[in-house]
Amino acid sequence: MLKEAIYHRAGNNYAYAYDEKTLHIRLRIKKGDADKVSLIYGDPYDWTEDGWQTSSAPMTLSGTDEWFDYYFIEIQPPYRRLRYGFEISSGDDTLVYTEKGFFDQAPFDDTAYYFCFPFLNAIDVFRAPSWVKDTVWYQIFPERFANGDTSNDPEGAVPWGSEEPKPTNFFGGDFQGVIDHIDHLVKLGVTGIYFTPIFKAKSNHKYDTIDYLEIDPQFGDKETFKKLVKVCHENGIKVMLDAVFNHSGYYFEPFQDVLKNEENSRYKNWFHLREFPIVTEPRPNYDTFAFEKSMPKLNTENPEVRKYLLKVARYWVEEFDIDGWRLDVANEVDHSFWREFRTAVKTVKPEAYILGEIWHDSMNWLQGDQFDAVMNYPFTNAALDFIAKETIDAKVFAEKITSVMHMYPENVNEAAFNLLGSHDTKRVLTSCDGNKEKMKLLFLLMLTFKGTPCIYYGDEIGMSGEMDPGCRKCMEWDEEKQDHELFGHIQSLLSLRKQHKVLANEGKLTFVSAKDKVLVYEKSSYEDSFLIVLNAGDKPAEHSFIVPLDYQLVLGSPGAESMPAYGFSVYRKN
Ligand code: CA
Repeated sequence: MLKEAIYHRAGNNYAYAYDEKTLHIRLRIKKGDADKVSLIYGDPYDWTEDGWQTSSAPMTLSGTDEWFDYYFIEIQPPYRRLRYGFEISSGDDTLVYTEKGFFDQAPFDDTAYYFCFPFLNAIDVFRAPSWVKDTVWYQIFPERFANGDTSNDPEGAVPWGSEEPKPTNFFGGDFQGVIDHIDHLVKLGVTGIYFTPIFKAKSNHKYDTIDYLEIDPQFGDKETFKKLVKVCHENGIKVMLDAVFNHSGYYFEPFQDVLKNEENSRYKNWFHLREFPIVTEPRPNYDTFAFEKSMPKLNTENPEVRKYLLKVARYWVEEFDIDGWRLDVANEVDHSFWREFRTAVKTVKPEAYILGEIWHDSMNWLQGDQFDAVMNYPFTNAALDFIAKETIDAKVFAEKITSVMHMYPENVNEAAFNLLGSHDTKRVLTSCDGNKEKMKLLFLLMLTFKGTPCIYYGDEIGMSGEMDPGCRKCMEWDEEKQDHELFGHIQSLLSLRKQHKVLANEGKLTFVSAKDKVLVYEKSSYEDSFLIVLNAGDKPAEHSFIVPLDYQLVLGSPGAESMPAYGFSVYRKN
């Protein structure tokens, strides 16, 4: 056995409280290195005259990636404390792995050798709002979804869809437009809307906030927004707003004051100004998002700034009853601010959802004291690489996803925000070079996966578009130009996911087989079980996977031994 590959630490994704009673423990070892792995464990204070009282329980292989096998066990320690180690066997070889290293035999004279989970304190358990697990999001870029009120159109707005989207043009989309089209969302079956920013700003994307407490007049007023939230709630749809707390816009009043009064500005400590006078060329002499002079980084360590931003965080929840915050550039803001932010928001609404925009390993934000979820770009990339771009095969896809899923606790995976495209990327149909069959497979994958999926407006009716600004076209409302077959496909998947929670987040996800272009995975719980088979290739594929007799086709084409090109089948256990 390769000892160097064996890894565990008593925290993060390796040892965590899944709920108030349950601990999850994982161990990583070299792929194929073990026949059997057991957990040796006991309460640290449970001693008798025979010594320390321990038990042993087998761990199960929960996944395999490119290099490693992961073993898993769920434990409910009666006194909520645990000391533990691992017994790893391969043939005649047995190793015991503890916090103090490797032993041939488990040392029982002292619990100090062992890994320690000191106490399962309920308040420390990572807990995302329970509704999130069952939510399917729909992302709306408000300037481009629908124009329901031409009286608030910004100056120079052009008729709906009359030209291609540009970084600077306006079409007049607004809240009334969303209200007018709520039926479209209900019919599709989504249960949450994620709005990109709606606060007063200059650009069409509104990420350059001028005033965090005002709605941009082009979208309507606060009354219309209140009405919009009410209409959404009446239709079983949650509302999440997007905010940038990392940096303000150039026209944010405090920043304008700083530009005007320099050292004498009462707001000089609201930003990270390195010297005076303030210069913007060749690079700004103050901290910004990237080197963008118009996005000055806010000093969230300053109590006045904190007070202002936390007021913003509470205000929209308190006054408008929104259900969540999506936080732009979340990883560049200090952790201490996010902890206060969470407390502020959850005090007003304990069931509010907090989603951070982070593209990399996010364990530091997902410990239960900051965010409920991050945007799961590793899922996006792996799914697009496998199906849209065909740069990886099914086996590599399964390995990559296994790695990602073992990077986080299970309760974190259940709230992860999964997406295939957004206002920041190519549209999914364009990523598929216009191949609708591939796109259908991508939606099948995302909508039967763990986590909480998000559909970018217009993808469901076959809209295309390159990177920003191409992906921000006006929503197509002409029914003759909408792809109804695609809409039907996504609608049936949503309906199936809603009917069978095992397709969402109840139960586990297991890769059954992954070879060349054919991927087979199982979603199963004690009550319900599904098998999903898909062929991401442009040719029919023979495969050796045999569908058990007690499974029945519920969606797609029967693909007993051979799957048609881009074919898929969803089977359910009788
Ligand atoms: Ca308008």
